[in-house]
Amino acid sequence: MRISASQIDRLMACIGGAVLPSIEEPSSVGAERGRAIHDYMASVPSLGRDRALAMVPEDYREFARAIPIDRLPVVKEAWLPEAAYAWDPIEDRGYYLGSMINRAYPATLPGNTVVGTADAIGLADDQAVIIEWKTGKHWSEWQLKFLALAACRAHKCDRAMCVIVFLREDGTCKELVFRYDIFDLGLFAEQLLGLSKRVLAAKSSGESSLVMGAHCEYCPAKLNCPAHTALIRSACAMPANFAAEFEVLTPEAIGKAWPKLVAALQILHRAKAQIETWVTDNGPVPLENGKELRTVVTGRESVAYPRAVADILHGMFPDYDIMGAFKLETSKAAITKVVQSIAVHKGISGRDLKESVFAAVRAAGAIARTTWTRVEEVRIDGKGRDTNPSGVDPKEYGEKFAEAILKRFSSTGPT
Ligand code: SF4
Repeated sequence: MRISASQIDRLMACIGGAVLPSIEEPSSVGAERGRAIHDYMASVPSLGRDRALAMVPEDYREFARAIPIDRLPVVKEAWLPEAAYAWDPIEDRGYYLGSMINRAYPATLPGNTVVGTADAIGLADDQAVIIEWKTGKHWSEWQLKFLALAACRAHKCDRAMCVIVFLREDGTCKELVFRYDIFDLGLFAEQLLGLSKRVLAAKSSGESSLVMGAHCEYCPAKLNCPAHTALIRSACAMPANFAAEFEVLTPEAIGKAWPKLVAALQILHRAKAQIETWVTDNGPVPLENGKELRTVVTGRESVAYPRAVADILHGMFPDYDIMGAFKLETSKAAITKVVQSIAVHKGISGRDLKESVFAAVRAAGAIARTTWTRVEEVRIDGKGRDTNPSGVDPKEYGEKFAEAILKRFSSTGPT
């Protein structure tokens, strides 16, 4: 099994996915949306915005249209979209495999090479700049570390800047920036070599210790994983015993129980979704409790056009103040959408206009801040919570690195 960049985070936590048989998951709406937007971003440089937009599936075209493409490094010739890389852990050597190869990594690569594709890359004299587009929340720093290492080794750079750009449906973006120097790259090479050795050893012995946790969510071996199947068997066969495992509330017990609980919930949610899909596709199923599992259509009425209702009520009751029955509602996302389209119409910066609108709205005390508390897993090193912690101006990675790239990309695949 060749390791791919998106698997590294999970394999660092648990090697089991490299050994156990995989089962391909059906594609989710989120994954399809991500693929459509990635394809769009990759095709803008060659097709131009309008033609690329016309090729986006209709369901996602509004999302694609809202992306502030001129502000992002995709239209500059010097940026390569979908740049594929391989890295050889034994030789510590990186290979640039080409742009837009659609993840068809050459079969001739050694079995232990690690492969991955950067959504866009630009090069300066000694620095690789890697861009990853995200349409969801899930991201992995190891994917960036690998791309930084492979690209730097392939193009003889000493440092890398990796930028995750979160693209949102309302046309706004957030950037998360990571910088890696020559020492970081050396450390990543060592850690990835260790991982590659562990994977090889597990595959040849057929044994691996299984570590459950949130990383299990995207593990293709989840349905064949003994840690999960044992847990589900115990949850279904003896719910009381299963629940008792989570009753002792000491920090040590919680530390052990939480990852198991998250993993169990993931697999139970998935099993429930599978059954619901089956019933939707095939019809009702009788249950042992005498009831039936079936699709049920429910609904409620809501007012679609408040203004039309106001006109009707006003016409029917002209002597009464009927506005008490109406409330004016909006949201930050709705305001942002309107402001973005005004900015496009006026040909000015959407970001600046949005800032001035929200400054005025805040100054008027029209925005309330609500806080709430919840329990969630966060990284102890504190990384990954700030957006754009280095304050890099997106223009910097969009334009500053544009010149040297064509020359530097003459380096090609494995020899
Ligand atoms: S499901 Fe989780 S515990 Fe099982 S092999 Fe995959 S990552 Fe490891």
